[in-house]
Amino acid sequence: MNKNINKAVFLDRDGVINKDFSYVYQKKNFVFNEGIFDLLRILQENKYLLFVITNQSGIARGLFSEKQYNQITEYYLSILGNLGIRISGVFHCSHHPDFSEKPFSNCNCRKPKPGLFLKVQKEYQINMFESIAIGDSIRDLKAAYLSGINNRILVNPIYKESIYITKKFKTIKECKKYFQKLFL
Ligand SMILES: [Mg+2]
Ligand SMILES: [Zn+2]
Repeated sequence: MNKNINKAVFLDRDGVINKDFSYVYQKKNFVFNEGIFDLLRILQENKYLLFVITNQSGIARGLFSEKQYNQITEYYLSILGNLGIRISGVFHCSHHPDFSEKPFSNCNCRKPKPGLFLKVQKEYQINMFESIAIGDSIRDLKAAYLSGINNRILVNPIYKESIYITKKFKTIKECKKYFQKLFL
């Protein structure tokens, strides 16, 4: 009996969902990437659960509060929700090795550690082999690799080579086109 019955897409936030202007916590700086709505819709229609896993060391650095982080999360989830896109869970690491107290300075949730991926896997009975990770940085895909995700997509205009990457696109729009064709 296989109890890992769901497949999921693990999305990074800054650089994937929205443009990465660094330490985004205000609505005016939360700009969705072109093509992200269609991409999420396509994945959802193909029975993937959607999760956001995001490093938010701006909290440890004192640049914004946990409350402000939660507010921006609610903001973009409500926009996605109005478009019929359901995110099953959003998980963040608020820590940073140089700015957090022990034991959080060496937490398991900051990517490239796979802590949050494994938490989702367990809580939502995810089949990691069938699942997908989409990130704009190698550490997103290293965390995915360490948690057993087989499809690890880098979306970044700058060329990067890594064993953690299985596919790459310059933009979310290109990534969307790929899945559009794949699921035809
Ligand atoms: Mg990112
Ligand atoms: Zn952490």
